[in-house]
Amino acid sequence: MAQLGKSGRHQVVVIGSGFGALFGTKALRRADADVTVIARTGHHLFQPLLYQVATGILSEGEIAPSTREVLAHQDNARVLLGEVTEIDLAARTVTSHVLGRATVTPYDSLLVAAGSGQSYFGHDEFAEFAPGMKSIDDALELRGRIFGAFELAELGAAEGEDVADLLTFVVVGAGPTGVEMAGQIAELARRTLRRDFRAINTLQARVVLVDAAGQVLPPFGETLGAKTRVQLEKLGVEVLLGAMVTDVTGRGLVVQYKDGRTEWIAAATKVWAAGVQASSLTRTLSQQSGAPVDRSGRIRVNPDLTLPGYPEVFVVGDMIDLDHLPGVAQVAIQGGKYAAAEIERRLSGRPPQKPFHYFDKGDLATISRFRAVARIGKLRLTGFVAWLLWLGVHLVYLTGFKNRFTALGHWAVSFIGRGRSERTATEQQIFGRLALTRLEGGAAGLVSGNDVPGPDPEVAARRRQELEEQALAEIRLTDSGERGQPTR
Ligand SMILES: Cc1cc2nc3c(=O)[nH]c(=O)nc-3n(C[C@H](O)[C@H](O)[C@H](O)COP(=O)(O)OP(=O)(O)OC[C@H]3O[C@@H](n4cnc5c(N)ncnc54)[C@H](O)[C@@H]3O)c2cc1C
Repeated sequence: MAQLGKSGRHQVVVIGSGFGALFGTKALRRADADVTVIARTGHHLFQPLLYQVATGILSEGEIAPSTREVLAHQDNARVLLGEVTEIDLAARTVTSHVLGRATVTPYDSLLVAAGSGQSYFGHDEFAEFAPGMKSIDDALELRGRIFGAFELAELGAAEGEDVADLLTFVVVGAGPTGVEMAGQIAELARRTLRRDFRAINTLQARVVLVDAAGQVLPPFGETLGAKTRVQLEKLGVEVLLGAMVTDVTGRGLVVQYKDGRTEWIAAATKVWAAGVQASSLTRTLSQQSGAPVDRSGRIRVNPDLTLPGYPEVFVVGDMIDLDHLPGVAQVAIQGGKYAAAEIERRLSGRPPQKPFHYFDKGDLATISRFRAVARIGKLRLTGFVAWLLWLGVHLVYLTGFKNRFTALGHWAVSFIGRGRSERTATEQQIFGRLALTRLEGGAAGLVSGNDVPGPDPEVAARRRQELEEQALAEIRLTDSGERGQPTR
């Protein structure tokens, strides 16, 4: 197990490379401290645009730039790949793993920004048939499943089969992600793919948005929720509210209405955009500090975002239970910056800041091209104006000039034109996740351990001799002009 030593300077460890972690790390650029970012992926993911990767508008690189590249010019920051499995609050160490290699990193200050994962409300088995929307892997798998369903429908229809289930797409969860996903699949079927197939009519694709709640987009309030529903229905999306998903299989799902009625929806493609569960790191923090964890796994923190009893540990973003703060990017960004400012103040002997105060900049969600809804303070916007606002905000917050530039190009292709530049999907993307979950030890199970003996020296010598003979034969054939000549 590698133990990373201390340089004598104040050591800040940041867990995660999402919004809270990245903005916190950047805010520490002038601090008299070494900052170590430990994250399980090598990229910073802009989750709000995952649905555009899943529906072929953007490439994964555009929404997930390399964290190492983003921080390349920040001299006091370094990046380590690894899944944090343990935080020892007494010893002040963080243990991370990657492919069986363990690393222990000591800290003086800790910023935990590990975010949240998908929650299937106790039915994790649904994940096999209804992937969530939390990672690049999820988005690419969904892209493969969505475009693949149209391909399979084309094959079936050519043989005269009923392909209604292949052309039915169900999105579970009518929050911003579900609305955006349903709107984009509808647009894909009605606009982008219209002329691409011969045996199927993509206009007949059925897109269903299901939610147990009584309205779409609850955080946007009743008026915008109702307007969004009308817009979705105009696009051809069927909106089923008060409908709880009680079972999911490869062929479809069962929804149960409030009156007890159940309905089977035959659908090959299901997308799970309902429910989040905070990173399981909150449990280890809770066990050691006694801070309570709520039903969504979020941990109660002090008003200054520190862990009760551990002023050197800050927790930010989706992981925290404080003042009913929502699980949105701005809470994480502002929390990360606040924690960084507090660390810097302590280092320079300045008094602490006032308690963390979240500045609510509002909410935005797109419904389709040129249509969005926005809630900014008391202002409610819909349609094209809201969409322009959406465009501006996303351009500002996408990380990296290069990504903004290429994303703008891809948006022009999809929104002004009919195309989707990123329709590529591979078999590995569609089935890789499932294959890994069935493999003992996951990806680590595929990697040879250090104790595996090297190649047998005798076998290696024989192989070398064969390769040399092969090369000599190649040279002779070329030099003698025998290549291409009849051999008999
Ligand atoms: C599909 C989707 C759409 C969204 N749309 C919007 C939107 O339109 N507007 C909005 O404001 N918010 C939106 N959100 C919510 C927003 O993305 C989150 O609130 C925000 O990302 C939270 O930031 P965070 O720093 O807490 O966590 P994240 O940004 O999720 O970052 C967590 C980081 O921790 C890493 N990590 C996790 N566990 C470990 C571990 N054990 N070890 C090491 N690293 C770990 C992850 O790899 C990641 O880098 C959306 C979320 C999703 C999933």
